[in-house]
Amino acid sequence: MPFGLLLIMVEAELIQVLQLAVIIGIIPAFIARNKGKSFFLWWFYGFMIFIVALPHSLWIKPAHQKVEQEQNSEGTKKCFYCTELIKQEAKVCQYCGKLLHD
Ligand SMILES: [Zn+2]
Repeated sequence: MPFGLLLIMVEAELIQVLQLAVIIGIIPAFIARNKGKSFFLWWFYGFMIFIVALPHSLWIKPAHQKVEQEQNSEGTKKCFYCTELIKQEAKVCQYCGKLLHD
């Protein structure tokens, strides 16, 4: 087999591997994008180290969940006595029944 032909075959193989990496990198990128992360950054991450990026993308917490948590904590305060979260306007704790003074 001529050496030139061998080179072309190796090159074609390399291009296939690169194409596969590009496609595979999209998977963690989509997962991360659904959680409010940058699609391109995560695609690049998956392209470079797919084995790490895929479990990482599954593991990260969605960004909007954090926002919801922050919204939920708005309008609430901790009971001075039992430290349960109660409504900001509450005069009596719904958990321990103690009178609250602001
Ligand atoms: Zn209480």
